[in-house]
Amino acid sequence: PAKKQKFIFVTGGVVSSLGKGIASASIGALLEARGLSVTFQKLDPYLNVDPGTMSPFQHGEVFVTDDGAETDLDLGHYERYITTRMTRSNNFTTGQIYDSVIRKERRGEYLGKTVQVIPHVTNEIQDYIRRGAGMGAAQEMDVAIVEIGGTVGDIESLPFLEAVRQMSLKMGPTNAAFVHLTLVPWIPAAGELKTKPTQHSVQKLREIGIIPDFLLCRAEKPLGKSVKDKLALFCNVDLNNVIDLVDVPTSVYEVPQVLMRQGMDELLANRLRLPKRACDMHDWDLMVGHIKKPKDTVRIALVGKYIDHQDAYKSVTESIDHAAYAHLLKAEIVRLESESLEGDDWRKQLDGIDGILVPGGFGKRGFEGKLRAIRLARETGIPYLGLCLGMQAATIEFARNVLGLERANSTEMDEKTPHPVIVPMDSQKDLIAASNLGGTMRLGAYICTLPKRTSRATKLYGGAESVSERHRHRYEFNNAYRAQFEAAGLVFSGLYMPDPSKPEQSLVEIIELKEHPFFVATQAHPEFKSSPVKPHPLFRGFLGAAYKRKRGDAAGAKTEVSLSPVG
Ligand code: GLN
Repeated sequence: PAKKQKFIFVTGGVVSSLGKGIASASIGALLEARGLSVTFQKLDPYLNVDPGTMSPFQHGEVFVTDDGAETDLDLGHYERYITTRMTRSNNFTTGQIYDSVIRKERRGEYLGKTVQVIPHVTNEIQDYIRRGAGMGAAQEMDVAIVEIGGTVGDIESLPFLEAVRQMSLKMGPTNAAFVHLTLVPWIPAAGELKTKPTQHSVQKLREIGIIPDFLLCRAEKPLGKSVKDKLALFCNVDLNNVIDLVDVPTSVYEVPQVLMRQGMDELLANRLRLPKRACDMHDWDLMVGHIKKPKDTVRIALVGKYIDHQDAYKSVTESIDHAAYAHLLKAEIVRLESESLEGDDWRKQLDGIDGILVPGGFGKRGFEGKLRAIRLARETGIPYLGLCLGMQAATIEFARNVLGLERANSTEMDEKTPHPVIVPMDSQKDLIAASNLGGTMRLGAYICTLPKRTSRATKLYGGAESVSERHRHRYEFNNAYRAQFEAAGLVFSGLYMPDPSKPEQSLVEIIELKEHPFFVATQAHPEFKSSPVKPHPLFRGFLGAAYKRKRGDAAGAKTEVSLSPVG
């Protein structure tokens, strides 16, 4: 008989920002550690069709999947906690649902009926969930975890809640479970944890017809027996299923262990009649052990534009951390607003920095500040890692200060630059036609060939001949300048070759400097492929080099990056 796919629906109560993404991801990690295949869905209750055009200032990072979807950053959490890779269908918004319903209406598919939120919108949501979970597919996953964005009680998320209520009814009680993440605030004046907000948010859920099976309670202090009793009684939840999610001391990667200690994997398995299996968290526990006992720290400057928003560079800062764990280090990330490096005190801001990273970005504000940081890295041997715009900037800095091409720039920043070192893909039309890029951005996974056997890139990638990395950009290195750069010592160590028989048509993917302890930049976004148990090799190399610099033994260009205990 066909196996039954199980669903876990995760809702949030009381306030936003409780970490529903991390909680969902952690549940996924535990189930995967029990040998189950797991996938995720993120339902976003806003009207934008996708987060691609939303400002990082407001929305945080846009996470890019292999198939080129611009998605919510929660998909990044999922990929860091489990091994299943997310695709376009694992994230959808109210905007997409309405778009789809209205198109159907225009095509006459509703046969003249009045088109309404119930049933048309809610049915559409269910179709999307089933499709995203791969229900009925040849490779059906054991469990799909569906995270519903927003907070219970919001007008926006009502259709989603109604849709999953209907779904769970159709699936039957052993095939669907509801997990409600809530806040149990500590009131200092009373010296008490208060359960009332949770009671109210569960009441709201029950009004809609959803009875949570689990309460995940975020709290500053451990819940204690009486608080748990109260929550269980008034929220109608089994006492064992009231899970204490007290703030973790060191890292969000401890959350799976916190859930496991309270038997959540076992409770869920019983609830959903999942096979009885041991939960093997060996690698995960080892990794958390490293996080808790760093032997030293290393200071990395993150020079960007959206520094104020905690989540704008989420995958980048996570990847730095992952690489640090692998070296038994703690990364101290110094967030520098690149525009502030355009002032006179710029040098001081970079004092005592062991490594400089310029991440992806758009637009010219603060661009000159980034160039300053890169020049310092190049000239003084501070390890440098450039990501996407960080690679483009490195080539511009090199053009200006090594090749003497004054005012060299990307046409994104200066349309009239006399030396357009970075140009829009449009101007390389043949390549684009040859590789069917479509749209205006190169999005998603592309194969990068590593043609130089002795390059640092090849070494970092473990001798691979080619690798796959994700992309999200409009501009490319201008091939007209390649020979000039190469003659001056810049190494093009990664190329995208749409047609291997025509190497002259390749696009630049990775650049590096030979005579430098670590100067590597990539047109791709490797940060989307790092996880705490498998840090990305470019980040690992970068952190290793930064630590070498800190210890003062970055003597010469040929120093090897130290090997690390993880991965
Ligand atoms: N703005 C640059 C481009 O579009 C870089 C984009 C990025 O860093 N993601 O090519």
